[in-house]
Amino acid sequence: MQSGIDSSLAREVSLIDYSLAHLDGHFSDPNAVKILQTHALHYATSVFEGIRVYNGNIFLLEQHINRLFNSAKIIGLSPSLSTNECADVLIDLVTRSGLSNAYLRPIFFLGGDDLGVFAPNNITRFGALIWEWPSIFGESSNKVGISLSTQVPYRRPPDICMPSEAKSSAGYLVGNINRRQAVANGYDDALMLTYEGHIAEASGANVFMVKNGRLLTPPPKGILNGITRQVVLSNLPKGLFCKETNISYADFLTADEIFLTGTAYEVMPVRNVDNVKFKPGAVTEAISKIYTTLTQKQLDDGDQNGIN
Ligand code: PMP
Repeated sequence: MQSGIDSSLAREVSLIDYSLAHLDGHFSDPNAVKILQTHALHYATSVFEGIRVYNGNIFLLEQHINRLFNSAKIIGLSPSLSTNECADVLIDLVTRSGLSNAYLRPIFFLGGDDLGVFAPNNITRFGALIWEWPSIFGESSNKVGISLSTQVPYRRPPDICMPSEAKSSAGYLVGNINRRQAVANGYDDALMLTYEGHIAEASGANVFMVKNGRLLTPPPKGILNGITRQVVLSNLPKGLFCKETNISYADFLTADEIFLTGTAYEVMPVRNVDNVKFKPGAVTEAISKIYTTLTQKQLDDGDQNGIN
């Protein structure tokens, strides 16, 4: 610890002149200060989106941009560009990349200079990445399903402890730790419980169960109310209804089918929860088919990438 700094917990320390830095074994890396002088890296003051591009078209761009800006507002970031400008950047990025099926990652994050917690004058920066990402768990996963473990260390924080409406970097720490534990135990993903012990969500997806021809899903409290979840709920197969309700672990294990929804996961069947097995069934298949049709539909509807 630097001498002269009294117990740094007692006061904010703001170091503006970063004359020397060390990064990954190098004292002279020209990127060291640039990378390290980022408030978001230290305090998770960032929000982002994950958006799929299908056949060169950005799927549900308006919904994702609205959530991105709402997330920024919720955690107190001040974007310097408008929703339309943000959309233009993303459309441009897709065009420049030449990719037709890809994943887009726009992010707002608090930059330097001030690396104190408060940092009232730091600016909100914007960045976006694009990469090819065909299937999150491999090509066969949407046929055979993935495995989920509830034997993970942390529950989802309730809304009074973390704003779950915001897709914030801070919100991902619990999912990240849990997923790493699940994978270490031989599972594909973690299935997290709410603070109260009800079924919540996977590390990057919402969850549904089918029982006796009815669909059930947890209410959007203490979970991210996913855009895919909302699209699935608004486009159910004819005659199928969904009830948003608290689901206990015991009830969940009695499901006929279980599936996950998310931008990256799309509609993903689940083949086991802990050591209880499930089979991808007709309801999951029907919902998956509708979702796939919607992702392709934009093509026929013309350019839907504009923000209204
Ligand atoms: N829950 C969590 C924790 C997530 O990270 C995601 C992915 N954004 C989802 C649910 C699904 O959200 P969406 O359908 O908007 O991708």
